[in-house]
Amino acid sequence: MSTSCILLNGDYSYLCQMDWKKALCLMFSEKAKVLKYSDRLVHGVEKVFRAPAVMVLIKVVRSVYRNRVPFSKRNVLVRDRYTCVYCSSKQKKLTIDHVIPVSRGGKTDFDNCVACCKPCNNLKGARTPHEAGMHLCRRPYQPTISEFIRIRLKQSGAYRYLVELGLY
Ligand SMILES: [Zn+2]
Repeated sequence: MSTSCILLNGDYSYLCQMDWKKALCLMFSEKAKVLKYSDRLVHGVEKVFRAPAVMVLIKVVRSVYRNRVPFSKRNVLVRDRYTCVYCSSKQKKLTIDHVIPVSRGGKTDFDNCVACCKPCNNLKGARTPHEAGMHLCRRPYQPTISEFIRIRLKQSGAYRYLVELGLY
């Protein structure tokens, strides 16, 4: 069972996951309030209480989480959930396609690179999707670090707490 607590920023955006002991310290110092308790019971000196599962900070803190994710081929694959943007096939062995080909001045960045399977990449060649008659399921974009954390959260069980609270 997870003993970590999700900490949300004062604007209810996701900040981080922390140990429930640290979470309790935040709560007792009145820097954060509990939105949801977990099923885990904690034995204190005088009484038994529930460990917090989701807390929100009283104030909004500026954080690094809003920063941009650095560009890398791996991060393009993470953003696109290891799914080819043209045929939606899901696989680990994907290549990176330049939507506007490099030979036409297309850049190697998040706005022009997408996850692409080998067959689609071969089919498209050095053409634009329009020229190749191919359709992009999703537009490429620059992701933020908080988005990347959310992708990882979705894979862990913690995400359901946020959904339950209607936050995501
Ligand atoms: Zn494909």
